[in-house]
Amino acid sequence: MQTTSIQYLKGIGPKRAKSFTLRGVNTIEELLYYFPRRYEDRTNFAKVAQLEEGQIYTIKVQVLLGAQRNSWRRRRFSITEAKVGDNTGKLSCIWFNQPYLGDYLKIGASVILYGKVERYNGKLQMSNPEYEFLDSQDEDSLNVGRIVPIYTLPQGFSQRSLRGLIKNALDEFLPKVGDPLPFDLRARHNLLNLAQSLLNIHFPQDLILQKQAHTRISFEEFLLFQLPLVLRKLNRKERAGTQHMVEGKLLDDFISRLSFELTGAQQKVLTEIKADMASTQAMQRLLQGDVGSGKTVVATIACLIAIHSGHQAAFMAPTEILARQHYDKISSQLDGLTFKGRKLRLALLVGQDKEKQKIFQEIKEGKVDLVIGTHALLQEELSFKNLSFIVIDEQHKFGVGQRALLPKKGNNPDVLIMTATPIPRTLAITLYGDLDISVINQLPLGRIPIKTLQFNHADSHKAYALVKQELKLGRQAYIIYPVIEESYALDIAGAKKMFAELKAGEFKDFRLGLIHGKLKTQEQSEVMLKFKNKQLDLLISTTILEVGIDIPNATCMIIASAERFGLSQLHQLRGRIGRGKLQSFCMLVSDCPTEDAKARMSAMVASGDGFFIAEEDLKIRGPGEFFGNRQHGLAELRIANPLVQMQLLKAAREEAINLLNQDARLIERPHQLLKAKLLQRFPEYEKLMLVG
Ligand code: ADP
Ligand code: MG
Repeated sequence: MQTTSIQYLKGIGPKRAKSFTLRGVNTIEELLYYFPRRYEDRTNFAKVAQLEEGQIYTIKVQVLLGAQRNSWRRRRFSITEAKVGDNTGKLSCIWFNQPYLGDYLKIGASVILYGKVERYNGKLQMSNPEYEFLDSQDEDSLNVGRIVPIYTLPQGFSQRSLRGLIKNALDEFLPKVGDPLPFDLRARHNLLNLAQSLLNIHFPQDLILQKQAHTRISFEEFLLFQLPLVLRKLNRKERAGTQHMVEGKLLDDFISRLSFELTGAQQKVLTEIKADMASTQAMQRLLQGDVGSGKTVVATIACLIAIHSGHQAAFMAPTEILARQHYDKISSQLDGLTFKGRKLRLALLVGQDKEKQKIFQEIKEGKVDLVIGTHALLQEELSFKNLSFIVIDEQHKFGVGQRALLPKKGNNPDVLIMTATPIPRTLAITLYGDLDISVINQLPLGRIPIKTLQFNHADSHKAYALVKQELKLGRQAYIIYPVIEESYALDIAGAKKMFAELKAGEFKDFRLGLIHGKLKTQEQSEVMLKFKNKQLDLLISTTILEVGIDIPNATCMIIASAERFGLSQLHQLRGRIGRGKLQSFCMLVSDCPTEDAKARMSAMVASGDGFFIAEEDLKIRGPGEFFGNRQHGLAELRIANPLVQMQLLKAAREEAINLLNQDARLIERPHQLLKAKLLQRFPEYEKLMLVG
C-alpha cells in the first residue's frame, strides 16, 4: 500500500494526480495521511434566526435570491451578492472577487456556509463565507449529518469530491493497514490502532474519537521524529573521541588576562564543556545563550583546551564580517600568550583568500593551532593534521548538512554548537534530541538594560533626535532597513536611498556609512572596520548586521519598518547594542499595521530577555516557522505540535530510547513495520543503523 500510486484510485487521472503531487501526495498511503485542516459539525446546523453578530457559524440554507454585481471603482474587483435563508429567517451574503460563484447561486440551490456573522447597514450578513453546494436535495452520509472534514484543496477538487476519494481509499485500504506502533507500546499509552485512527481523523464518529485519533497520529509523528535523533546520540556514545587535558597554564594565563571576570553562568557552562572534553566520548553540545551573554569567550577557552592538548581547533561563523571579528578579537586576547615557548598560531579563512594554498598547507602540516573562518572551512581541499575541537557559531545560519561536514575533517572531534535563539529547556531537549545542552542564562555584570521605544512612522524625527543627542556624546548608532532598494508597492524605505537622504539632510553634520549585502565582502569589511575605528558615527544597514557584531560604543539603533521583521530577528538586531557599560536605546519605527505586528512590538518594548522573546515568537509563529522546517525534520510533523503536546513528545522520546536500547536496528518482528516507515520518511536512517 505504501508505494501504490494514487493514479490507481478510481476518479484520479494524470491531471488530478499532478495537483496532488504539488501537495506532496504521490502514494495511497500519503493520501491517507493527507489530513483535514478542520472539521465542521454538521449534525446540528445553526438556525438563521439564532445567529448573533461576531460569532462563527455553519448554516445550511437555500438560495433565495442570487445575483452578481460588479463594481469598477478599482479594476478587476467584483462583488457577488446573494440572499439565503432557512425556515427561520433570511441572511445576506457577499463574496469579493469570486465572480464565477454567480453561476452556482441559483435560486433554490442548497448550500452549506461557514463564516463569521457581521452587521452591515444594520443587517446581519456573512462576508466571504466558505461554501459547499449540496447535490440536489440529497442528504448523503458523507457530507451532511455528521462531523465533516474540511481539507486544503488540491487544484481540481471540491470538498465533496475529495471526501469521496478519501472515503473510497479508506474503505479499500484500511483493512490492509498494518500498525507500525508495537502493540505493547500502544497499550502503555492507550493509543488507538492505526486503522481506527486514520478513519477517525478523516471521518470522526464523534469528537472524542477524533481527539484520540489525533493523539495517536501525533504520537507516531513524534516517535518517527525522535528515533533518528536518539539513534544518533546512542551511536555517538559508542564512538571514541579525543580525551583532552582540561586544566593547564595556558588556560589560567588566558583567563587571568581577560579584562573581566567570567560570570557564574559562563563558569558553569565551561565546567560542562570540560567534562565532555576530558571524556573519551565525542562531545556534541549545544550552547544556548542570549545575545551578548558571552558565548565567544567560552568557546575560545574550549579551543585553547584542544590546543594545549596538542591538537587543532576550528571556529566557523556564518558571515565573513563575523569571522573577521572573531579573528581580530581572539588574536588580541591571545596576544602575548605563549605555549611551549612559542606564540599561538591563528589563521583566518573566508573564501577569496589570496594565500589560500599556503594556509591550507600550514593547516595540513599542523602549523596552525586555530583556524577561524566561514563555510570556506568546508572546502574539500582543506584537511587538518589533527583536528579535535570544532565551534559552530550561530548554528541556525547553517544547514544540517553543512554542520555535519566540518567534523568529518577530524577524527570524531568534539563539537560545540552555539545559538543565540534560546528556547525553553524541555522543548530544546526534545527538539535537539541528539545534542547535550548548556545554557548561559546570565548577562555579564554591569550591563544596563537597553531601553526600547516604539515610534509611529510620522514621529521618525523623534527617533532621529535621540540618535543625534547620543552621537554628540561621541557614541555611535545604527539604522536598519528591511531592504536595500525601496519598494513603492509595499511602501517601505530602502537603505540606499535613505542613506543619501539622511546624509544630505537630518544627519549632515555626521559621518555616515552604508553597508548591505550587494556590496563586495571586501567593501563590507572596510565599512565595518571604519565604523569600529570610530571613523564613522552612523551606520545605515540592512540585516547583514544581524548576528554577532560587537561594538560596545554603539548605543543606538533605529529599526525602520520594524513590522517587516520577525520577533526573534528584532531581538537579534537589538543585541548589536547594549554591549558595553553605557545606556543603549533601541527605537522601533512602525505603524503596526497588523495585530501580529502589534504583538511583536509590545513584546520587544516589554522585555529584553531572549528566553521570553523566543517563547513569544514560538507562540506567534508556531514551531515549524520558528525553527525553519528543514532544519529539524519538523516538516514531518503535520499535525503534532511540540508546543501544545509537550507531554506526548516526551513520552514518545522515552519510547524511542526504550526501543533502541532494546533493538537498535529494529530487526525484531514487532518493529519491522516501524522500521519500514522510518526508512520511507528518513532514507538516511539506514546509514545511521549501520553505524550503530
Ligand atoms: P554572544 O554570546 O552574543 O556571542 P559575545 O561573546 O560576543 O556574546 O560577548 C559580548 C561582549 O561581552 C563581548 O565584548 C565580550 O568580550 C564581553 N564579555 C564576555 N564575557 C564577559 C564577562 N564575563 N564580563 C564582561 N564582559 C564580557
Ligand atoms: Mg556571538
